[in-house]
Amino acid sequence: MTNRELFERAKKLMPGGVSSPVRAFKAVGGEPIIATKGEGSRIWDVEGKEYIDFLMSWGPLILGHSHPRVVRALEEQAKKGLSYGITNPHEITLAELVISAMPSVEMVRFVSSGTEATMSAIRLARGYTGRKYIVKFEGCYHGHYDGLLVSAGSGVATLGIPGTPGVPEEIANLTIVLPYNDVDALKEAFERYGQDIACVIVEPVAGNMGTVLPKDGFLQALREITRQYSSLLIFDEVITNFRVSKGGAQELYSVEPDLTCMGKVLGGGMPLGAYGGKREIMEKVAPEGPVYQAGTLSGNPMAMVAGIATLSELFEKNPYEYLDEITQTLCEGISKILKDKGIPHTINRVASMLTVFFTDQEVYDYRTAKSSDLGLFAKFFRALLKEGVLIPPSQFEAWFLSTAHTKEDIEEALNRIERAVSLI
Ligand code: PMP
Repeated sequence: MTNRELFERAKKLMPGGVSSPVRAFKAVGGEPIIATKGEGSRIWDVEGKEYIDFLMSWGPLILGHSHPRVVRALEEQAKKGLSYGITNPHEITLAELVISAMPSVEMVRFVSSGTEATMSAIRLARGYTGRKYIVKFEGCYHGHYDGLLVSAGSGVATLGIPGTPGVPEEIANLTIVLPYNDVDALKEAFERYGQDIACVIVEPVAGNMGTVLPKDGFLQALREITRQYSSLLIFDEVITNFRVSKGGAQELYSVEPDLTCMGKVLGGGMPLGAYGGKREIMEKVAPEGPVYQAGTLSGNPMAMVAGIATLSELFEKNPYEYLDEITQTLCEGISKILKDKGIPHTINRVASMLTVFFTDQEVYDYRTAKSSDLGLFAKFFRALLKEGVLIPPSQFEAWFLSTAHTKEDIEEALNRIERAVSLI
């Protein structure tokens, strides 16, 4: 079977042939690949072609594909049951690990995806404050919960989906959207609506308009203004948790949110999300408090043991310096290749996540991210794919590195990227 043949079958059975939109490669054209195997830093498609993987399942695989410790934990647990629907000891171990890494998180609730985490955190913020407005930033993506799809990044940005079909206006109108990194706009919004704002939700490092870093003082301003108006500050760390440092972006930038949304690396490749924060707020969650939220598979032992194995490996080996070093080498190498070819570019990076934008402008919000030459990105993506390098099939996403990427892998990736760029 070829990728094309299988994808033709898939399209008849599933909308767009996929289970999640950006996988259809619509923004970059050409046939999507269908994956059959991942090991370490590599992924293979159905035709047996091998790629150096910088997509890394959109972020969870910080230890690479099928890390032996994670696989062993899953094999052992599978023999003892996949799900109990009753509390298991692994939930307590993982909760302790999460809480030990993030001082702002005193209690945690496990869910099965990042979307569930943000949706539940918003409900909790509204329940806790008794207010209805929420503030989000243009180009940030927080999952596909109705009120959070307004001006969202990731697939919504990639496909240029206008507005929010399926989301009633009454709900969309409760979301105030502001430009990322714009403190003046934030102050204005609070002066106008502050008493009715339940929370501000933000990606403390944005990954869903491509990688965009917070400017100095932006996260601090969010902290101050939400405190001043008794609104809650929610950090959506679904991408950044355990990725940009052991304690996430809140540790890296020394700003403590009231609530934190988690996912991706937390589950090491299994469906897992979580939200947590100050005890006083988390005690409002059912059954301790009145804000309802539940899940049949929440806290299921397979996701728990994958999370425990992933976090234990990270906390014991502390690979963050190594990840920083190889990611820097990759970025410098790409920059040199593009410069030699005379291609204008800006590379945004923090720790082991990065995005290459095809613009000579600084990229600090969604508007500047959109100044990238999307046609050139599509050519770049396809040339890389042909040469055996897989990156996210959209400009508005982040590339991820893992501990499985060796220095030789980076060298080999740069060779392949150089060949690819010579063809575009
Ligand atoms: N928040 C952020 C910051 C994300 O990047 C994502 C997914 N890319 C989500 C939430 C939603 O997570 P999930 O896809 O697991 O529902």
